[in-house]
Amino acid sequence: MSDVRNVIIIGSGPAGYTAAVYAARAELRPLVFEGSITAGGALMNTTEVENFPGFPDGIMGPDLMDNLRKQAERFGAELVPEDVTSVNLDKPVKEVVAGGETFLAHTVILATGSGYRELGVPGEKELSGRGTSWCATCDGFFFREQDIAVVGGGDTAMEEALFLTRFASSVTVIHRREELRASRIMVERAEANEKIRFLWNSEVTEVLGTERVTGLRVLNNKSGETSTLDVTGLFVAIGHDPRVELFDKQIELDGEGYVKVDFPSTRTTLEGVFACGDVVDHQYRQAITAAGTGCSAALDAERFLAARG
Ligand code: FAD
Repeated sequence: MSDVRNVIIIGSGPAGYTAAVYAARAELRPLVFEGSITAGGALMNTTEVENFPGFPDGIMGPDLMDNLRKQAERFGAELVPEDVTSVNLDKPVKEVVAGGETFLAHTVILATGSGYRELGVPGEKELSGRGTSWCATCDGFFFREQDIAVVGGGDTAMEEALFLTRFASSVTVIHRREELRASRIMVERAEANEKIRFLWNSEVTEVLGTERVTGLRVLNNKSGETSTLDVTGLFVAIGHDPRVELFDKQIELDGEGYVKVDFPSTRTTLEGVFACGDVVDHQYRQAITAAGTGCSAALDAERFLAARG
């Protein structure tokens, strides 16, 4: 067992590292569990990030995360590349287990992010950032005047498809059923857009291309026929899973399984536990919004500690 720390931060994406910068500059000496394989978070899997303010020429995702990491370290954050394996958050002194050791803290900041659901087909992962994307807001700009596809049938898929029509020449929505799950209004908007067309009862079985996406192999699950769709971009919009397994029995979640916070603060339903970034946010899911709430979480933790004296 260790001494009782002021703050333990779980997660090392833009939310976790930003919380670490603020907590460290407030002399709280945060202990950050970065995760073993995915240290740096979602942006470690991407190439160019063009919309993080302060980088007029863009920055590679891993470089941005490396900068944030260094910035947190510079002010004294203690960074540990381990996965947290269990937590006990409902007492005044919280317990966090990692690498077989138990760490104690007065406050815990949850910044574990969310995972984009994948299709799980050949070529998808290999061409991530080179034509395959999970975020239209992030990457739509790269597909000007191109023919692209969106996979999914919910509101997010329709939002992504409609947004992408600003850039692309055409957007083919590929859906495995005959009807969309999306709300009526979103369906109407998508159907009324002349750049959008639909491929029903269809499943992507392979993403084609070596350097970049050149097409998709598509199976019609009714007729059993396979065809090739010539597109240079694929947006996968089949949902996200907030990473809450570690604490979902202890903390209240919202209707969609994300951590419930007392918005606009980052306070969760447990005293001394704060949450930020994509594990809370199913609206925006951007690096800058995650960093913003990471800052809020550190300030909330700091004020909580100060009020307790
Ligand atoms: P994440 O970045 O997901 O980080 C979560 C962290 O939690 C990880 O470090 C992980 O290791 C850690 N973790 C989870 N469980 C544990 C555990 N048990 N123990 C220890 N650590 C744990 N946004 C933009 O603004 N611009 C872009 O151009 C852009 N491009 C993107 C491209 C791709 C391919 C993807 C996937 C996302 C992109 N995004 C982009 C979205 C952006 O990456 C996310 O919104 C942002 O990373 C969320 O930050 P976060 O800190 O909440 O979570």
